[in-house]
Amino acid sequence: MKELDWKNLSFGYIQTDYNVRCAYHDGKWGEIEISSDPNINMSMAATCLHYGQEAFEGLKAYRCPDGKVRMFRIEENAARLQSTCRGLVMPELPTELFTEMLKKVVRLNERFIPPYESGATLYVRPLLIGTTAQVGVHPAKDYLFVVFVTPVGPYFKGGFSTTPYVVTRDYDRSAPLGTGCYKVGGNYAASLRANQWAHEQGYSCEFYLDAKEKKYIDECGAANFFGIKENKYVTPLSTSILPSVTNKSLMQLAEDLGMTVERRQIPIEELETFEEAGACGTAAVISPIERIDDPETGKSYVFAKDGKPGPISTRLYHKLLDIQYGREADVHGWTTVVID
Ligand SMILES: *Cc1c(COP(=O)(O)O)cnc(C)c1O
Repeated sequence: MKELDWKNLSFGYIQTDYNVRCAYHDGKWGEIEISSDPNINMSMAATCLHYGQEAFEGLKAYRCPDGKVRMFRIEENAARLQSTCRGLVMPELPTELFTEMLKKVVRLNERFIPPYESGATLYVRPLLIGTTAQVGVHPAKDYLFVVFVTPVGPYFKGGFSTTPYVVTRDYDRSAPLGTGCYKVGGNYAASLRANQWAHEQGYSCEFYLDAKEKKYIDECGAANFFGIKENKYVTPLSTSILPSVTNKSLMQLAEDLGMTVERRQIPIEELETFEEAGACGTAAVISPIERIDDPETGKSYVFAKDGKPGPISTRLYHKLLDIQYGREADVHGWTTVVID
């Protein structure tokens, strides 16, 4: 293979050597299959295609300075997938099977794991779909769990920096008692219009309020929100946001740094009082927010006047990356060495 241009990878898709699969039939999971076929052969009547019986996850494998390859909080992702399965009436994938398949697919594609110095990583995408051919609306009997990987570039090409967000009141990505707390493709389909609208106006992302009252902060695009003030890490409590593993980890690290963590409803006006704000998720760890504009009220909540991320966001960002790359002691037992 010709050497990939590791430094210039985007968050795109590059076909790798192998993917791993496991099918569910007759009420049980089968054997793990290794495939070099990037395509899935299934019926055009499969439930995932018509009724959105589809769940996914996203995590990364990091080539570390000590030469090992680590993954971050695999069990948390397994647990979240199981929660999504319950939400969409799909069979839950056991944690051991999930973990084994993730390790296997990373090891099989070792040559696609970017070198440490590049800042790039191997993105791991587990995917679960209903495959039974039927047109009646009820859960499938057959499922396919697939895990593929693709190398992705560093999120911040020009270094850790802030971007502007815009409040959307014309679109919701999820309903209060809907599927917002599950990692399903349908939530993303529902967010595309708002995302396009935000991009057209020069914003990096749309910012959602709670769908019912439009009073409280929900999510920033496909990332969780946090605000920092008075040595407190404040993040929304809502039934319609996805429980981010990154956010959960940052809450712990904030506590470790002696900060108070508050998980509660955050009225939009409270944005005025935050010293720093960020969006968090696996892709960026933290995407610091420059400002949030609210076109309806004409307000602009500014967090970074000089375009530079705040000191606490910066500290949390480096602390989490240091753990993921094995540069700092993993006191919480979050990482798994996949290749020694
Ligand atoms: C995946 C996802 C996140 C981030 O979760 P992480 O586990 O931190 O990667 C946040 N919001 C939505 C809607 C997501 O789908």
